[in-house]
Amino acid sequence: MSSIVAIVGRPNVGKSTFFNRLIQRREAIVDSVSGVTRDRNYGKSEWNGKEFSVIDTGGYIKGSDDVFEGEIRRQVELAIDEADAIVFVVDVTEGITPMDEEVAKLLRKVTKPIFLAVNKVDSGSREKDAFEFYNLGLGEYFTMAGMSGSGTGDLLDALVLAL
Ligand code: GDP
Ligand code: MG
Repeated sequence: MSSIVAIVGRPNVGKSTFFNRLIQRREAIVDSVSGVTRDRNYGKSEWNGKEFSVIDTGGYIKGSDDVFEGEIRRQVELAIDEADAIVFVVDVTEGITPMDEEVAKLLRKVTKPIFLAVNKVDSGSREKDAFEFYNLGLGEYFTMAGMSGSGTGDLLDALVLAL
């Protein structure tokens, strides 16, 4: 069985944009199967010759952080259980939010590989804005722009080495 990579983070940071860039084919989600929730998208990906499954979480979570805090927490806990590695996406244009702190707190306890992806680094001038994400206590981060694909290669190189 191929490894599972889960993409987590609060709404609007760019999880689905990154997911759509990664996947080559989407697996059917069978609603009647218990435990398969419709707010999770599954896909297959491959990088450097290594195949893996990807889960995009929080598909139907829209709106402000506080309203959906419980739901995001549930998604992160599911991902921690199910995945072999986790990509935690944050948004450089917003900086660290209280919800990011909450997710980081859950992830700091996990022994599985965690990759912190600072997204929406669309230009070199935003690189320096990413420094603050060291404060999440998760160590090194990768900067990327899921929309253009810039920086995603370095993240994927490291990710597949950990699978
Ligand atoms: P999700 O809620 O975390 O799945 O986020 P989405 O993938 O739906 O993206 C939320 C918004 O951020 C959309 O308007 C995207 O076009 C935008 N977005 C995603 N990636 C980037 C990026 O690299 N740069 C910029 N500037 N915007 C992005
Ligand atoms: Mg999404």
